[in-house]
Amino acid sequence: MSETQRDPVIDTEKPVLVTGATGYVAGWIVQRLLQAGATVHAPIRDPERAEKTRHLDALAEDSPGTIRYFKADLLEDGSYAEAMAGCGVVFHTASPFTSDFEDPQRDLVDPALEGTRNVLTEAAKTESVTRVVVTSSCAAIYTDNSECAAAPGGVLTEDVWNTSASLEYQPYNYSKTVAEREAWAIAESQDGWRLVTVNPSLVIGPAIGGKPTSESFTIMERLGTGEFKQGAPRLGIGMVDVRDVADAHIAAGFLPEAQGRHITSGHDTDLYAASQELVGEFGDRFPLPGSAAPKWLVWLIAPKAGLERGYVARNVGVPFRADNSKSRQALGVSYRPLGQSMREMFDYMIEEGYFTRV
Ligand code: NAP
Repeated sequence: MSETQRDPVIDTEKPVLVTGATGYVAGWIVQRLLQAGATVHAPIRDPERAEKTRHLDALAEDSPGTIRYFKADLLEDGSYAEAMAGCGVVFHTASPFTSDFEDPQRDLVDPALEGTRNVLTEAAKTESVTRVVVTSSCAAIYTDNSECAAAPGGVLTEDVWNTSASLEYQPYNYSKTVAEREAWAIAESQDGWRLVTVNPSLVIGPAIGGKPTSESFTIMERLGTGEFKQGAPRLGIGMVDVRDVADAHIAAGFLPEAQGRHITSGHDTDLYAASQELVGEFGDRFPLPGSAAPKWLVWLIAPKAGLERGYVARNVGVPFRADNSKSRQALGVSYRPLGQSMREMFDYMIEEGYFTRV
């Protein structure tokens, strides 16, 4: 993984806590930890539901490490105490990433913000903890692509904070922004551990197992089931492979000098361009986008598609630009090619039966 020979050494002396271990991103973090021989403490909502943990159990069986489950919920104060006892590094990844919500406060902001408060205040009470890594997002940096050009140097950096999202406009971005702000406030109020954040753009690539609830899969599913067959928008977007995101987390957790935020984004691209990475291998079997939809058309039909016209104006045909140099230099991340991540994710989804309707 290393571009600069900054290979992190995973400390296997103390257990490592991973929240949201059943999730898409966390699965690959757990995989790296188990491979290194670590004991992973995994506080999850439903330890009794075998289908949620089967893929993690299979990983543990094939690796030198061990996984232990605990019952915890982001919204239940104190529920992470038992799992955190004795842990050295805490990875806090659990947070809803979905467009399927009814009440943005209840379904997105509360679990993101209260959950961060719950997990990090527990860490502040737990003497053994020396490092906390929070999975934040580029969503905590920006809302609309028009903000990229407006940023200093015309590119998003770790110095930029999202000031445009709200409960009414792009509430997922809002949830990640208030949660990361809270994480930094808690980190500054204590001196037991250092906070490091990983801020990925849209994560793609295969899952470690199962059918994750992550919005990443919903987006890819829409591409594969023909929703954009008549034309995909040139919606500027950053993308990054899930395995590169996991490597960034491991470096953030175990490199002694890691500090601050890290934009973790492999590619500045757009939805149409990314979809074209699939055409060569899958175009004969799947109704993939054949052309780029003109912006005026996307603007015109936006309300029908549940999109605000202002969103289209600020994002379609407007490039996403983010500076990933800190993640490469400080964390040693080297990013996989976009086509590889797209194709391996699509392959994974075919195997898991996502496209049975096609
Ligand atoms: P995911 O597969 O849906 O994982 C979300 C995890 O959060 C699941 O393990 C879920 O547990 C857990 N969770 C949700 N609500 C919870 C609650 N009330 N109590 C306890 N656990 C709860 O999504 P993901 O894509 O891996 O996202 C993981 C993290 O990466 C999130 O912080 C997300 O904001 C961040 N991120 C993701 C992307 C992306 O493109 N995927 C990009 C940037 C940042 P259950 O299994 O019980 O539902």
